[in-house]
Amino acid sequence: MHEHVEPLVLGIDLGGTKILSAVSDSEGKMLSRDHGITPAVKGTEAVIQSITESAHRALEQARLDISKLDAIGVGAPGLSNPETGILFTSPNLPGWRDVPLREILERKLGKKTFLINDANAAALGEFYFGAARGARNFVYVTISTGIGGGIVIDGKIYTGTLGAAGEVGHMVIDDKGPPCNCGNRGCWEALASGTALAREARHRIKQEAKTSILDYADGDVEKVTAQVIHAAAQQGDSLAKELIAQTGYYVGVGLANLINIFDPELIVIGGGLSNIGDMLLGPAFKAAGERAYKEAFDVVRFALAELGRNSGVVGAAVFALQESKKLGSSPYYPSGNDKNAEIGR
Ligand SMILES: [Zn+2]
Repeated sequence: MHEHVEPLVLGIDLGGTKILSAVSDSEGKMLSRDHGITPAVKGTEAVIQSITESAHRALEQARLDISKLDAIGVGAPGLSNPETGILFTSPNLPGWRDVPLREILERKLGKKTFLINDANAAALGEFYFGAARGARNFVYVTISTGIGGGIVIDGKIYTGTLGAAGEVGHMVIDDKGPPCNCGNRGCWEALASGTALAREARHRIKQEAKTSILDYADGDVEKVTAQVIHAAAQQGDSLAKELIAQTGYYVGVGLANLINIFDPELIVIGGGLSNIGDMLLGPAFKAAGERAYKEAFDVVRFALAELGRNSGVVGAAVFALQESKKLGSSPYYPSGNDKNAEIGR
């Protein structure tokens, strides 16, 4: 039997394409981990079915009856209200409108359930058990197909009036910029996400720019992704390097805005695109340093998310613990491990 610290909760990270469920103890240790798929195109009921199946598999894997759980926490993409448990809308879940997700899951699973935005959950995961341990004021940013965020002020996640705060990906960087999934133009995620990087590369390739990027995508321009561009850049492709630097520049413009608004002590950067590392983050920190107030830039630290793909599922578990009053609002500090990993700039 696993060693764990009770109480136990189930965290669920609902993404646009996949679901991650994990039984977690009160110290963020995962006792099981299940991957499910999100059948987003099949609609609400199919997705909810897939969530409950993944939840049951995670429990089975941990050899745990649901009665032994204290609560369930669900991190979901899009706008939701943690007070009412209603998911208003989500660009990643087409057709979802005002879905009482918390209530539905509570009924189907027979367990107290809590709902939180996925990026806010990831921020909580990093806050309690990852790169932001010990921080009081920090901003978590995840850069992947889109850009999400979570804001922690005075040791508490800031969720706003509706619960919709922290949508940093939709701050407008260029009002005449490319269209965004949200219906607006020139949002941060329309300029600095993996999707934006791939879109620019496809555009340049169609204009017959000289590049080897297609060699990494089976010669198919539709298969050009951020990973493909990164692979080409690592082999010295100059267009790939230029496009990553340009994306990094836009990452930095957004970071400068966050620094000027929040004056945080720490910005934690997660998400698949951050794995590119220096090639992206070098230009990002340069642009942020040129645009933010010098005093605020000089004090802010940057760190990469420590929990990787698990920050959302661990954070959803943390939220369940918090909401069921099993965890204080101030984070747990693992003994002898309070030094956060920092990245240079
Ligand atoms: Zn937008």
